[in-house]
Amino acid sequence: MLCLRLWKVNVVKNKAVFLDRDGVIIHEKHHLREIAQVEFISSAAAAIKKLNSKFIVIVISNQAVVARKLCTEQDVKKVNQFIQTELEKQGAKIDAFYFCPHHPKFSGDCECRKPKIGMLVQAKKDFNLNFANTFFVGDKTVDIQTGKNAGCKTILVKTGYAGSDKEFNVQPDITAEDILDAVEKILKTN
Ligand SMILES: [Mg+2]
Ligand SMILES: [Zn+2]
Repeated sequence: MLCLRLWKVNVVKNKAVFLDRDGVIIHEKHHLREIAQVEFISSAAAAIKKLNSKFIVIVISNQAVVARKLCTEQDVKKVNQFIQTELEKQGAKIDAFYFCPHHPKFSGDCECRKPKIGMLVQAKKDFNLNFANTFFVGDKTVDIQTGKNAGCKTILVKTGYAGSDKEFNVQPDITAEDILDAVEKILKTN
């Protein structure tokens, strides 16, 4: 029997923007652990709203505050839910939040802590992403290293640490003043 495959299966991969949380969407507070400490970067909601029509928007953050026993995973989820609720009031939406609660010193090694790409690989499976179409926006060199490790395009914002941590010797593909400038640069070419 002859089997003719007359159609071409065309699986369209989604485009995404990975966003670091602290220093990109909300102001960097050392070891943020509760809603009372959340203070939005003023352009964050407008920026995310602009992305929503074209990109899947995913937050990727290291939250070693859990490994350090400064708060629980539930507390991190509460903060993320608060961020989502506040953004939604302004018509913006995060499609998913991924966070790594580990720290090698306190909880042993893991596959998710940036600059490892465990969270990105999980998001890729969950949302059928193509990393080549995907941007990583962050304020620390670890974010840029993570994006590069996955083969994403990388954008360093000048809010938060603005790359001043110098933990990794990496150069971003693009630099931006803040999350809104980053989004405008993404949308110019996509
Ligand atoms: Mg950060
Ligand atoms: Zn982890």
